[in-house]
Amino acid sequence: MFHDHLNEVKRREHALQIIGERIASGGREGIYDLTGLSGGFPLEMEDIGLLETYVGPAVFEERLQTAGRKHMGGEMVAAFNRTSSAILASILELAEPGSLVVHYLPELPSHPSIPSSTQLAAARYHETDDFTEDIPENTSLVVVTGSTMDHRVVDESELQQIIERAHSAGVPVLVDDASGARLRTVLFNQKRACDLGADLAVTSTDKLMHGPRGGLLAGRSDLVERVKSRAYRFGLEAQPPLIAAMVRALESFDPSEILNALERKGYLLEALRDLNVEETPTGIMIKPDSLEELYDSTCTGDEIAVALSMLLLSDHGIITIPAVGMPGASKTLRFDLASRDAERLVPELLREAIEDAVDKLSGIISDRKMMEKLIFGS
Ligand SMILES: *Cc1c(COP(=O)(O)O)cnc(C)c1O
Repeated sequence: MFHDHLNEVKRREHALQIIGERIASGGREGIYDLTGLSGGFPLEMEDIGLLETYVGPAVFEERLQTAGRKHMGGEMVAAFNRTSSAILASILELAEPGSLVVHYLPELPSHPSIPSSTQLAAARYHETDDFTEDIPENTSLVVVTGSTMDHRVVDESELQQIIERAHSAGVPVLVDDASGARLRTVLFNQKRACDLGADLAVTSTDKLMHGPRGGLLAGRSDLVERVKSRAYRFGLEAQPPLIAAMVRALESFDPSEILNALERKGYLLEALRDLNVEETPTGIMIKPDSLEELYDSTCTGDEIAVALSMLLLSDHGIITIPAVGMPGASKTLRFDLASRDAERLVPELLREAIEDAVDKLSGIISDRKMMEKLIFGS
């Protein structure tokens, strides 16, 4: 039903339309964004007058350095439009044409930005979840993912060992710590990537913190300078309004919100045992494969996950990625309980909403027309 990109776009637009309608009738309170990607823009009134091309950087750059280094470690930070933009600029700058970029990650697949950027750099790409694999000759850059899109977190000792092995081979290391910069440090008490010796580390200011979608790169000042200058040539660097919101988000980051999610998670894991829920570091998830077992139907797990995600949205105002995500995004139904909106939704109500959606779908799933209406609208 949605193997094609166009249908995925239609599904996403339908979901956004439902969100718009709910907000028009019930206000923002009628929506619970549990994606963990809230893209908040926490500006203060006094910031607004400073968002100009040259005034902004003069004011916010210094604060970005202070707050960014406090969060990430390293000698220097730089702000980018997205994590993917920081990854692209870093790989273009550091991967040598014809050489190899090796990517270690706790679980495949990689975020697409890493292989795609490597291709643009005319380098070869190899990814592996086996951290004992040697770093081949002719490697110009090692990338390590600190926490995957599904929030699988690397072992600190494996991360440290790869960094040491890369360094003895004279190869720099970039850590993709999009969510890992908080998951690893706050929940697993791991060190910041730069403190473990990473030459560069990048994080996303809208993952597990209440900031805008933007990428914060930290690390060795000589490398950050080089990557920045590469970014300017392609327009990948963050502009003053984004930098200002990133600064505010970093300055107000409070790790206790992530820790509070743990209590809500324990309750839901127990209460929803029959639905094959699994735990993530800050919430719960139901994988598409396990959904197939719940229904006697020819629908794929991905289709069921999208249908449930749409029901949760239209009936309960709960936003999850399978409904609103970009084409190709994971169809895992992930409920991030560290999201700000999770504080307004008591776990009992979330449980009821999930059970209700699962029930309701059994009356629709065998009717192709109703499924299409649910997912794509009329
Ligand atoms: C989210 C994520 C990215 C990309 O972040 P964008 O803001 O979409 O560019 C890259 N890598 C990992 C592991 C991620 O989770």
